[in-house]
Amino acid sequence: MNLHEYQGKELLNSFGVKIQRGIVADNHKKAVDAAKQLAAETGTGWWVIKAQIHAGGRGKGGGVKLAKSLSEVENISKDIIGMMLKTPQTSAEGKRVNQVLITEDVYYPGEFEPDEYYMSVLLNRATGRNMIMYSTEGGMDIESVAEKTPHLIFTEEIDPATGILPFQARKVAFNLGLSGKAFKEMTQFVTSLYQAYIGSDASLFEINPVLKTSDDKILAVDSKVTLDDNALFRHKSYINLRDLREENPIEVEANAVGLNYVDLDGNVGCMVNGAGLAMSTMDLIKQSGGEPANFLDVGGTADAERVEAGFRIILKDPNVKAILVNIFGGIVRCDRVAQGIVDAYTNMAKAGDAVKIPIIVRLQGTNAKEAKDLIDASGLDVISVVEFKEAADKVQEVLG
Ligand code: GDP
Ligand code: MN
Repeated sequence: MNLHEYQGKELLNSFGVKIQRGIVADNHKKAVDAAKQLAAETGTGWWVIKAQIHAGGRGKGGGVKLAKSLSEVENISKDIIGMMLKTPQTSAEGKRVNQVLITEDVYYPGEFEPDEYYMSVLLNRATGRNMIMYSTEGGMDIESVAEKTPHLIFTEEIDPATGILPFQARKVAFNLGLSGKAFKEMTQFVTSLYQAYIGSDASLFEINPVLKTSDDKILAVDSKVTLDDNALFRHKSYINLRDLREENPIEVEANAVGLNYVDLDGNVGCMVNGAGLAMSTMDLIKQSGGEPANFLDVGGTADAERVEAGFRIILKDPNVKAILVNIFGGIVRCDRVAQGIVDAYTNMAKAGDAVKIPIIVRLQGTNAKEAKDLIDASGLDVISVVEFKEAADKVQEVLG
């Protein structure tokens, strides 16, 4: 689950990480109130208006603007709220901005330019340990830093048994070239950031930029936080942080009925039981000249209800030209699944939502023969095959 910048910052702050203060608003009046409140609390006279969408690169797309008066706060908020924000990380049409974060300005104009760093905490899958990745080259696209100046990116691996050790936090501050008060602030920042990562069961924290203000404070100015969905049961309150408006509507609907569905760009829908089989089915579709339109694992119970739910979800995607059902009957019997497919097909026709594209069904395993007979006898426009290769050939055939 991904969080908005403002939610990520609040989460970090609850673990003691220092942040640029801000208040979220969903209309320009609330934005002005937020600015006034921040002025009272922090003494700031300038504010930054930041579009809240689940995508980075907002600054480049015009979604982050400095306001030097309350009337600028009002006008900029008016412009940003409701806009379709396009950034290098959104689709071509962009993402609708529903709310803005009004923050204090922490790049106080003055003699010194503040320094921007990059810092992330993530799992290194190669070593099975968490690591802190950081760089002096903050505020810009880290992928291009990695490409052009990889020696400017440092990593620090953390032993899960000990957590982050004081010498490691000092090493980070040292490598970032800090001294004095900023050095001390950075060791505290890194330590609490790592504790927040562990404490919230996150799978990614990316803070870009981490800022050193002209008065040597270390603050999180941005936050990208991804929480581990499988650990949400340990943090009941985090469920409220989910913003469904930011997610793919078909995926949201599929999840609500318990289907494991990921939307893709192709033209062949697939319905499979088991994630491994789903992956190989997607390979098969590619090999036969098609492109998978989705990943869909219906799980252990491929009964009529789930099959119908699966068909309905797949058919919401207008690009789908054919559906390949590939089920292995290990625990489930193939004839049961076949009956489920026939029932789903007929139910949908009765409800006026008849399936109008070819369905290729491969059922293999327990009672595969009975299943094929059942589908062949149904008289429905469903092509039944037994072998993987036949399924591929049929997909190729129907795509023409
Ligand atoms: P992103 O573009 O989506 O990564 O959004 P960020 O939160 O990183 O903000 C983009 C840029 O806005 C930062 O790199 C800063 O240059 C600028 N910015 C953020 N906060 C402030 C601030 O308090 N004052 C000023 N002047 N600029 C800021
Ligand atoms: Mn950023």
